[in-house]
Amino acid sequence: MRLVLLGAPGSGKGTQADLLKARYGCIHISTGDILRRHLKDKTELGIRAGGFMSKGELVPDDLVVEMVKEKLREDSADSFVADGFPRTLPQAEALENVLKELDRPLDAVVFLQIEEELLIRRLIHRRTCRRCGKIWNVLTMTGGTEVCPECGGELDQRGDDAESIIRNRIDVYRGQTEPLIEWYAKKGILRSIDAVNSPEETFKEIQVVLGR
Ligand code: ADP
Ligand code: ZN
Repeated sequence: MRLVLLGAPGSGKGTQADLLKARYGCIHISTGDILRRHLKDKTELGIRAGGFMSKGELVPDDLVVEMVKEKLREDSADSFVADGFPRTLPQAEALENVLKELDRPLDAVVFLQIEEELLIRRLIHRRTCRRCGKIWNVLTMTGGTEVCPECGGELDQRGDDAESIIRNRIDVYRGQTEPLIEWYAKKGILRSIDAVNSPEETFKEIQVVLGR
């Protein structure tokens, strides 16, 4: 299965990608995670990308496209779920071209639909476990504590989950990523899901639209 998850920051792409990966055994391609790893490892790409990421801007297309192409050419990418990519029309075109070249077309683009106020509320309360990497909401999932319910690790807040930066990320999404919805709808592979429910319920709906 080859899928793209499309949706605003905070719509739950990362959480759903983890569930899809566990259920279907596909690899998870998260450009945000890859970029954050580069940043942490202080690679040249990480240093270039970091300035854009901290402001909530997009990293330039050519950098991201090269990074993803490399991943898609691996054998394991016969089955993947892409989260956070593509985010612009040039990225979508580049993805289409490389998949054509590999003869591995997309099965579906799942659009996680949700209103803006809920996005902001989710992102402000979002934390990542330092130890196991799981994503939590400190309002609805951990009872307000900054400790991972699963492994006891300390929870971390992403620097770009500050409110002013969240607003910029949402604006960038509206301007640059939202046009992809129409683009994929015209290709007949868009599947829209109401993403306001719990992760489990959203996952069930995704399985229904995928028909497997
Ligand atoms: P979210 O979807 O919650 O905004 P991500 O982890 O997907 O978070 O992305 C974090 C940041 O990484 C983005 O704000 C952007 O700076 C950068 N980034 C991730 N994916 C892309 C992409 N496909 N193109 C350009 N920049 C990207
Ligand atoms: Zn943990």
